[in-house]
Amino acid sequence: MADGTKDMHSDYAIETQGLWRIYKAGALDVPALRGVDLVVEPGRFVAVKGRSGSGKTTLLNCLGGLDHPTSGSVYVFGRDISTLSDRELTHWRRSRVGFIFQSFGLLPTLSAYENVELMLRIAGVSAKERRERAHYCLDLVGLSKWIHHRPFEMSGGQQQRVAIARSVANRPQLILADEPTGELDSTTAREILGLFRRIVEEEHVTFVMVSHDALVNEYVDYSLQLKDGQIVQE
Ligand code: ADP
Ligand code: MG
Repeated sequence: MADGTKDMHSDYAIETQGLWRIYKAGALDVPALRGVDLVVEPGRFVAVKGRSGSGKTTLLNCLGGLDHPTSGSVYVFGRDISTLSDRELTHWRRSRVGFIFQSFGLLPTLSAYENVELMLRIAGVSAKERRERAHYCLDLVGLSKWIHHRPFEMSGGQQQRVAIARSVANRPQLILADEPTGELDSTTAREILGLFRRIVEEEHVTFVMVSHDALVNEYVDYSLQLKDGQIVQE
């Protein structure tokens, strides 16, 4: 790394230093993150909790390179992503990060298989490997019998499973999930959380999940609490 003093940080999956994100709302400054210092070790499954408006989504977006910090650093596996250009970030994100959202974010006209395969196509994976990997990922989430169904033909839980298969398709080091069980009943939510746990164990990813569901405590390694843009409890 260019800055020798930062070498010691590269063992973490995630490390933020003095992370601020201030939104401009007209003449008003809205500080969504106010100096977040956070480390997550590789292979951990971590929940980020906090009230609505506490900065959870903003934090997740900064960790995944979907948003730029106003100041501070974000190291992901030792790399300071806050210095990357938009182009570099896009490339980095596609190869290293999987995203899962509350409302699944699937393309409605594509089948489960096509939703997963498209991700691999965008990443430039060969046709043969796309086929194998898409089948593997859909199998991993228990959807091998549903690969030709489109999102509207599936339950919420099944749609989230497709989104999970898509998120692991490119073998990311890091998966970020923003309230992934927010639209699911508690039985389905448990199934999805159990699946996340399995993916952390089997695919060796680091997993950060925003959730205010008390259920998650049974599945994650630990929780972080955000309040008004700061971590108040680990
Ligand atoms: P959470 O996910 O915990 O609900 P967010 O990260 O979405 O919190 O938002 C944190 C704060 O930043 C809130 O006060 C919210 O209103 C504000 N905020 C989020 N996005 C924007 C935006 N694009 N422009 C202005 N303010 C924003
Ligand atoms: Mg949010």
